[in-house]
Amino acid sequence: MYANYHTHTARCQHASGQDREYIEAAIEAGIQILGFSDHCPWIFPDGYISSIRMAPTEVENYVFSLETLRKEYEKDIQLLIGLEAEYLPSLMEAQEQLLEDLPLDYMILGQHFLDAENKSTFTGTPGNDESTLKTYVDMVIEAIETGKYLYVAHPDLIHYTGSDAIYEKHMLRLCQYLKSKNVPLEINMLGAFQGRHYPSDKFLRIVQKAGNTCIIGIDAHAPEQLLNKEGEIICKKITDQYQLTLCEPPLA
Ligand SMILES: [Zn+2]
Ligand SMILES: [Zn+2]
Repeated sequence: MYANYHTHTARCQHASGQDREYIEAAIEAGIQILGFSDHCPWIFPDGYISSIRMAPTEVENYVFSLETLRKEYEKDIQLLIGLEAEYLPSLMEAQEQLLEDLPLDYMILGQHFLDAENKSTFTGTPGNDESTLKTYVDMVIEAIETGKYLYVAHPDLIHYTGSDAIYEKHMLRLCQYLKSKNVPLEINMLGAFQGRHYPSDKFLRIVQKAGNTCIIGIDAHAPEQLLNKEGEIICKKITDQYQLTLCEPPLA
């Protein structure tokens, strides 16, 4: 893999390893552009503290650590500093203020929730409610309209278990929209390797039909996942099977 924009750090509380170990694993894997995109903090108005993302107080240290390492490893690899975040309109302003002075290279959209995580259900939870599916698609589109996000991580995280026709109606609308905006969608290597419900066959058929550009995201939650050859082979098989077009790394 030449570039990977989907890399976490231990700050999100469900990943392991030192920042430096991710970089060294990426160099060993031959990756030339490594983008960190750890789970972005939210400031919850009710004081709720998340246990699945970095704390707001850690974001400065995150950027500082990666800037220091970027200098140290500049001859070996190009490092980018990003974040993976949901789009949650009622919380955006506080998040923007938190991030405003930080030298971030990009954000990716990972719509794990449709509202604050203590008030909503993980979008990867199986369910057959069409309105949830529709809201998910509407929110991803609204997010991309802001121009803030480089690409959509695991767009098929939404786990709709109802009819294929209803699924296609909404997800084709999403794919056609992304295609019209030239925004890539991610083939998520972690999901593919671990046999999660994404990348999903029914979604990939829609992607093939809409003709989106795709990007493979490792979604590394441990340094050694950057060296996952088997995951790479699975993703290559997926791109061949559905004749997907991989895009050039957008920040190369
Ligand atoms: Zn994660
Ligand atoms: Zn991720």
